[in-house]
Amino acid sequence: MWFKRDLRIYDNRPLQQAIASGHAVIPLFVIEPDFWQLKTSARRHWVFVRDSLIELREALAHLGQPLIIRNGSIKDVLKILGQTYHIAGLYAHEETSHSWSYARDEGVRDYCAKHLIAFYETPANGIARRFHNRDKWAAMRRKRMAEPRISVPKAGALMASGQALSDLDSGVMPGRGDALFGPPLVDGDATQKGGRRAAMGLLKSFLTDRGASYVTHLASPSKAPQSCLRLSPHLVWGTVSSREVEQTIRNYKNTVATPLSRGKIRSLNAVLSRLSWRCHFMQKLEDQPEIEFESMHQLYDDLRANEWDEARFTAWATGQTGYPLIDACMRALTQTGWLPFRMRAMLVSFASYHLWLDWRRTAPHLARLFTDFEAGIHYSQFQMQSGVTGINTIRIYNPVKQSYEHDKNGVFIRHYCPELAKVSDQWLHEPHLMPPLQALAQGFEIGRDYPLPIVENEAAMRLAKDRIFAVRKHPSFGPLAAQIYQKLGSRKKVGKRPKAGADKQLKLL
Ligand SMILES: Cc1cc2nc3c(=O)[nH]c(=O)nc-3n(C[C@H](O)[C@H](O)[C@H](O)COP(=O)(O)OP(=O)(O)OC[C@H]3O[C@@H](n4cnc5c(N)ncnc54)[C@H](O)[C@@H]3O)c2cc1C
Repeated sequence: MWFKRDLRIYDNRPLQQAIASGHAVIPLFVIEPDFWQLKTSARRHWVFVRDSLIELREALAHLGQPLIIRNGSIKDVLKILGQTYHIAGLYAHEETSHSWSYARDEGVRDYCAKHLIAFYETPANGIARRFHNRDKWAAMRRKRMAEPRISVPKAGALMASGQALSDLDSGVMPGRGDALFGPPLVDGDATQKGGRRAAMGLLKSFLTDRGASYVTHLASPSKAPQSCLRLSPHLVWGTVSSREVEQTIRNYKNTVATPLSRGKIRSLNAVLSRLSWRCHFMQKLEDQPEIEFESMHQLYDDLRANEWDEARFTAWATGQTGYPLIDACMRALTQTGWLPFRMRAMLVSFASYHLWLDWRRTAPHLARLFTDFEAGIHYSQFQMQSGVTGINTIRIYNPVKQSYEHDKNGVFIRHYCPELAKVSDQWLHEPHLMPPLQALAQGFEIGRDYPLPIVENEAAMRLAKDRIFAVRKHPSFGPLAAQIYQKLGSRKKVGKRPKAGADKQLKLL
């Protein structure tokens, strides 16, 4: 059993199938150095995975065989194991992730075929391998998510005829700071706790307590960390299956003894929608893996390609743009590994519109910072927030407006940009506008204590809008957008196609 992004023993079909084969089961996790060297991988991800592996190892020990950890390429690991054991079959989930993992899995398929190992791959919940029929996708997902969950295997289930493979070395678990996984992002950077116990704790506290304010706090950078579900990295690494999360929420909603408030029902429904978006976005990458590298709409592909500005990128990546909410968000993300959706979208919108940076070169930076980096969601969202899909409304986030709306009293900004702590509420969101005498009285000097805005807000938004809409005037823009919709577009409103001209919409947020 090859564990990849399914670090659990509950609701794990490949594990069930491996056990059902009647052979002794070797539960294997491979630390693949090539993966950890990718420009989207970071030590933060390893810290989360490591917590999860430690618990998985313990859980598997109860089944008769602790987790076996090996370091190297999966093919080499199979080769070495094959020198001692006859490998009858390899069981794993299908993985929908970046091109590296597709290529790796292709290689494993070839290897298995050559060495007469049957390779059994099971779909992961709501995502179907190269499904290519968006009209039928939602029904497929609903069916999958409603299927009964698979129980935890019985104690000793991994042993053949009651015998564990006693001569099998279980392998060393590298430390959190092992050099393979690179340096910390910043001193003292934190990572959300991994492992199934933490996942179960989050699910429970969300249902009984935290989730009540989910919808109202969703966009608040200071309140959302507490009120959101926070299961995203757990879903990425599979300490819990998305089916389990979805069914648990539905069951709670339908069976809880005390009647739920309207607000709570709204919150639970909102989370259920997002769990479905998760699969929807991952299915896009599954159906069109090129979106990791190419803009969905080809007329946008070269839009920003030749205008890279390293100084702008560095200011954005280090939280030094002169826009307090942008800088606070980037620094919070670097330290904690998480931001709510709106703040993520705003960071990308600022990089892509205000700074006119190519999404392909900004996406890896945030991938390394997000504990929950999930290629399918990440690249789809990056493209949406950069306006290059051709099928979504163009959304440009005004960082000053967002700042007034979502951090009115500056709690979040002051926490992550302490150099602004002494600036009064009146000027906190636009410190460069503070009259010099007032700045002097507050002991603050723009340009010395905090940068001037890297670009002028209104002018940058206007220019970006004009450049995006100039592309949309091209005669082949519409027909190409219709093809993209057919292949990847959401069928949320069944039967409805986007209204004529919908591709020309703009929202300034
Ligand atoms: C530019 C950008 C990049 C993003 N990259 C990632 C990523 O790499 N990995 C990732 O998991 N999410 C990503 N998201 C989506 C979203 O911001 C996070 O899923 C969410 O903030 C995670 O926190 P949570 O678990 O508390 O989610 P909640 O808001 O409580 O939602 C519950 C679950 O639904 C899913 N979900 C929520 N929002 C979305 C969404 N918009 N699209 C798809 N699925 C969603 C997640 O699995 C999440 O755990 C990205 C959003 C943007 C704008």
